[in-house]
Amino acid sequence: MGLIIRQDDLKTVIKMAERSTVEVCGFLFGRREGGNFIVEEVRFVPNRLNSPTAFEMEPVEMVRAIDEAGERGLEVIGIFHSHLKCPPRPSGRDLKGMRLWPVVWLIVDEKGNYGAYVLEGNKIREVRIVEKE
Ligand SMILES: [Zn+2]
Repeated sequence: MGLIIRQDDLKTVIKMAERSTVEVCGFLFGRREGGNFIVEEVRFVPNRLNSPTAFEMEPVEMVRAIDEAGERGLEVIGIFHSHLKCPPRPSGRDLKGMRLWPVVWLIVDEKGNYGAYVLEGNKIREVRIVEKE
């Protein structure tokens, strides 16, 4: 199982995380293929909490993003967000979110570290990230 993402897309998420004083967040749209998650599009959604330690996607923008991706035949395959001053691993709060949104969770930090995770039962499993040109 791998998360296949374009280098530029990953860099964009990291760059936004580095520049932001609050957690950034959004969707990874794409498709599933042979057990892999292939990211076709990264879409930022405003963090309505404006918080450096938590995020919640702004609901109207969230629905719009999903609708627009759906029109292009893309589904939500992942959610991404950033951590500030803490490692890019799921927090307790993220764990709750992972139960609600059982997709791949990509987490980056403001230093350029990153990781991807899925919830399997009650266990967090790391997903290999494959960067492509
Ligand atoms: Zn988090």
